[in-house]
Amino acid sequence: MSKPRIAVYALGGTIAMVPGATGVVPGLSAAQLTAAVPGLGDVAQIRAETIAMVASPNLDLDIVLEVAARIRADAARGDTDGWVVTQGTDTIEETAFLLDLLLAGFGRPVIVTGAMRNPMMVAPDGPANILNAVRAAASPAVVREAEALGVLVTLNDTLHAAAEVVKANTHRLDAFTSPQTGPVGLLIEDSVMLTGAPNRPWRDAIASLLAGQDLATLKTRKAPVLLAGITVTDPGLLLDHIAASDDRLGYGGIVLAGMGGGHVPARMMASVATLAAALPVLIAGRVGNGPLLTRTYEYAGSEMDLARHGVLSAGRLHPLKCCGLLELALRCRADRATIAGLLAGFA
Ligand code: ASP
Repeated sequence: MSKPRIAVYALGGTIAMVPGATGVVPGLSAAQLTAAVPGLGDVAQIRAETIAMVASPNLDLDIVLEVAARIRADAARGDTDGWVVTQGTDTIEETAFLLDLLLAGFGRPVIVTGAMRNPMMVAPDGPANILNAVRAAASPAVVREAEALGVLVTLNDTLHAAAEVVKANTHRLDAFTSPQTGPVGLLIEDSVMLTGAPNRPWRDAIASLLAGQDLATLKTRKAPVLLAGITVTDPGLLLDHIAASDDRLGYGGIVLAGMGGGHVPARMMASVATLAAALPVLIAGRVGNGPLLTRTYEYAGSEMDLARHGVLSAGRLHPLKCCGLLELALRCRADRATIAGLLAGFA
């Protein structure tokens, strides 16, 4: 029986580091990464391509659009059965989710991976993570469930849904968790064990927003989104400044990483109300775990007060992922009602 045909697209990151003058810098190509994994060719027929060679803080939506376009083109040609993307772990929770949005309804396995230990360290995890990612992309169970699973992230012998996974530690091998749902699968011996399917009720709404959108055109549109962390000590000067400026400092939307169940201090409400009348302002939870409240508190700056002033609730969506969703929606020229419809899938 012929082996599954898996494309490995490399973007750089710790997994691809080589020695620099005093530290490490990205340098290994996709071909070098896959050549260093013992037994990879027994699992799948590999095609390795380097799309970018950057540390992951330098990834952006344009690069993810490029990856999505290549995956779609491969699928249209019919010469690829599954995809693995390697990148830095600092931003994997954002980029994998963007890819999940861009490929909503795609229905084929796409697995994103990276490494916590660079290749110069003792026992680097990159080769094992690539092997696991290829195993997952080639797994009949993942192929069968691909539509429901969406894009997956694997590190540390664990599979996470892209919409759920977060980086919760700076250096440990078990840095990635899905705090709201737990992982969706495990990699054990040479097989994949799925332990649950993510709840992705938003996927039809995003798929219909993207239907008919040309990914190359989306690259040319910019709609920067500000993530404003709400704290006890910040008086909100930046929000005041944006509210007072004619061009909103160039921002197309704002995500407030609010306190608790979705709250901001009363002192910020005048600017928040001005901003919400001018551009999409979303409230997400800085806790990063659990849905926002909708009908409990009514004080100034509460979830009810924010809704009254036109701020849209991101529900259970993590603030970092919320920024990606909003920027993508704005690049698609989504209006306020459409954005609210997308967010309803995360309520
Ligand atoms: N700084 C690295 C990056 O995100 C970290 C990693 O890959 O683990 O590119």
